[in-house]
Amino acid sequence: MRPRDLSANAPYDPGRGVEEVARELGLDPDDLVKLSSNENPHGPSPKAVEAIREAAGEAGVYPTAAHADLTEKLADRRGVDPEQVWVTPGADGALDYLSRAMLEPDDRVLAPEPGFSYYGMSARYHHGTVGTYPLSKSDGFAQTADGVLDAYDGERMIHVTTPHNPTGSELPREELLALLDGVADHTLVVVDEAYVEFSESASAIDLLAGHENLAVTRTFSKAYGLAGLRIGYAVVPPEWADAFARVNTPFAASAVALAAADAALDDGEHVERSVESARWAREHITENLEARTYDSAANFVLADVGDGTAVAEAAKERGVIVRDTSSFGLPGCIRVSCGTESETRRAVETLNEVVAEVDAAADLEAEA
Ligand SMILES: *Cc1c(COP(=O)(O)O)cnc(C)c1O
Repeated sequence: MRPRDLSANAPYDPGRGVEEVARELGLDPDDLVKLSSNENPHGPSPKAVEAIREAAGEAGVYPTAAHADLTEKLADRRGVDPEQVWVTPGADGALDYLSRAMLEPDDRVLAPEPGFSYYGMSARYHHGTVGTYPLSKSDGFAQTADGVLDAYDGERMIHVTTPHNPTGSELPREELLALLDGVADHTLVVVDEAYVEFSESASAIDLLAGHENLAVTRTFSKAYGLAGLRIGYAVVPPEWADAFARVNTPFAASAVALAAADAALDDGEHVERSVESARWAREHITENLEARTYDSAANFVLADVGDGTAVAEAAKERGVIVRDTSSFGLPGCIRVSCGTESETRRAVETLNEVVAEVDAAADLEAEA
């Protein structure tokens, strides 16, 4: 007995959790600063925490009503019909449902490089194949319609991320409109807005009314601080919204996650505070990190440090965990998530020491 040929499916590399790293270094997890997964350093809203406690008592029954309630609240907030809102286990779940709804075996998908690895993973899980379009360091990872269309060859799905992970760059609205205009009718453009709350730019959800080949994915993992509960959604055009009923895994979003997300939507202040905090941290990192950084509209900053693996490793030994972006295809860089004020200050100080030391070591080696 063997599974099907999975050689094209690379395992996802999540980076390690605080407990694991603490154990390895013999440190207290509380002494570590983890800025590697773009989580909300302030955690979830207290209202969401309260809702989680309450939902615990109802964990014995399938979450039918909770699913309908959250779907309706989201539809109301985003100005669409409830049918257009596909509530899913994380935004990753939304990507899967879109793959399920769109892909026939061997259909092709186009994704950014560097970019979020789950686009390709989801396509492969659904028997699709993956091509990439480049974002390049030389122009600060600018996102344009032409940059995508130059690589486009009739693919069934195109993934764009705005703000983009791991670079923080945005796809301006006029470029998105040009992209939607520039592709064939059978090509679905999926706009991943996992970080849109941190940006000044508007969501693309309002474009769904005029574009049948657009879908927007959102998550509660980042600004809402609910990464551990796995809850997100897609918003799709009315024309094919009924596909949800034919592709979703029943009850995939848990009762606890649904209740927490519902309560989190009622705490706009918590989101606002989280966004303000992230904007402060973003600026602090950009201004004080002694490395080239890229303009970010998200809750992290990409920095060009020469050797991302060495810098991330050395920072970790001093208790600061950041993301080495080698697995995204950017071996020279690290991605630093926005922490609390004290976490961010400590991370920048530590990284500045480490970058200087790694540079000095590389110089010595070059001389030898
Ligand atoms: C974090 C992230 C997501 C959200 O993932 P969840 O499954 O909702 O936790 C989606 N897209 C990108 C680009 C991300 O960085």
